[in-house]
Amino acid sequence: MSGITVLSVAPEIYPLIKTGGLADVTGALAGALAAEGIAVVTLVPGYPAVTNKINAAEPVLTIPNLFGGDARVLRATAAGLDLFVLDAPHLFARPGGPYAGRDGRDWPDNPFRFAALCQIAARLALGEYPRFRPDVVHAHDWQAGLTAAYLAYDGRPRPATVITVHNLAFQGQYPAALLAPLGLPPRAFALDGVEYYGMIGFLKAALCLSDKITTVSPSYAAEICTPENGMGLDGLLRARSDALIGILNGIDEAIWNPREDAWLVAPYSIRTRARRSLNKAALQKHFGLASEPDALLFGVVSRLAWQKGVDLILANLDLIERLGGQLAVLGSGEPALEEAFRAAAKARPGCVSTILGYDERTAHMIQAGADALLVPSRFEPCGLTQLCAMRYGAVPIAARVGGLVDTIVDANEMALASSLGTGILFSPVTSGAFGAAIERARKLWDAPKVLDRIRANGMKTDVSWRRPAAAYARLFRDLARGAAR
Ligand code: ADP
Repeated sequence: MSGITVLSVAPEIYPLIKTGGLADVTGALAGALAAEGIAVVTLVPGYPAVTNKINAAEPVLTIPNLFGGDARVLRATAAGLDLFVLDAPHLFARPGGPYAGRDGRDWPDNPFRFAALCQIAARLALGEYPRFRPDVVHAHDWQAGLTAAYLAYDGRPRPATVITVHNLAFQGQYPAALLAPLGLPPRAFALDGVEYYGMIGFLKAALCLSDKITTVSPSYAAEICTPENGMGLDGLLRARSDALIGILNGIDEAIWNPREDAWLVAPYSIRTRARRSLNKAALQKHFGLASEPDALLFGVVSRLAWQKGVDLILANLDLIERLGGQLAVLGSGEPALEEAFRAAAKARPGCVSTILGYDERTAHMIQAGADALLVPSRFEPCGLTQLCAMRYGAVPIAARVGGLVDTIVDANEMALASSLGTGILFSPVTSGAFGAAIERARKLWDAPKVLDRIRANGMKTDVSWRRPAAAYARLFRDLARGAAR
């Protein structure tokens, strides 16, 4: 079967608007699926970051009074992406982030902002713009979760639906009193509908009502079916385990390519990986670390959040210093963690340095210049930074959870004997076990040939979208022929 069209429903998409890996995925997957013969058009909210960057915007729908204001759907392109943009200034044209204002507080009208996205997705899916007839609707995370509900309660024949869970920690729960204001019928407030512990659950609704559920790694797919990691939704996920599959993420090899990375002082390939030392020197300078070629340099590129286990890094600063290591941290997030990293840098000048904020150039410099990348996540649906690290030859030191397990081969003795091994995995996720992993890395530092083998193994690993896109393509083809519903 050829000519399959997918409507992707996404609250963020790289390079237009990004708060995390979700945007990388929605941006890159569209392009990777094109190579599989699948056309993806992505519906995104018209945040200023989006409306400022789109080209050839042509209005294809006008919607009077969409949750309190008039709206339009624009067909547009930007950065090679094929888009529908929900131009609803009363909901999206405001300064700040996609989900929260500059004070970090969630926008109080978030249920309406993302219900609007979902309602319009459902209308497009049902053919309201006659020139667009998707075979599959692919919704991403809770923000797109009600799409499946609006389609289910509309009752007309609909395309197949898929919800992808990028992070189960974010579920979108709102008071039951919003049911009618959100345009949902009373019968939707049911166990097999949008009801979730007496509230309306956007993600929960999607998990109940979508034909298929995907998440971003096979291990995370298994983890979220357990009470420990199911975040209240494990019972439902177990009940729907036939519909649940894990498909790993890839990274965009055009953006993450050490050979042609304009942000590096010394681009390199696997053959010329010794040139990483030039990038290491540049990184030390960029972060104000001591210019010591022989110091083991650890890098971090992360949201500063409990999920990411970055407090375990703080707990191991003495160890890193004692081992003669250095630490370069790029991140932003929870104020207390930001403050702790700021203080750590102040207390250990030349050894620990922190850049707070979001900066793509520095992220690329870290992957190219750090000897190892620290990823001590408490849970990790897939994780992209370890994939970037492997592609760039920084050895990931990561917790043995979720997608980290599925993407990193621990360089234990047998793995090394078989020329495998792309990183260091540790468990349990405690500061002690993490410290032991850091010590393992230090020992490898004294065995440069072994370390270089691990580096090369990582750089050789296919972390592209090719395999994942083929898996999504198979799923979408099955759904389009009605085989998987
Ligand atoms: P999550 O989506 O949970 O934050 P991922 O590892 O899946 O984590 O994706 C994070 C993405 O955001 C990666 O592309 C990473 O390089 C990028 N990133 C994270 N923090 C920063 C930062 N402070 N500056 C630049 N890029 C960042």
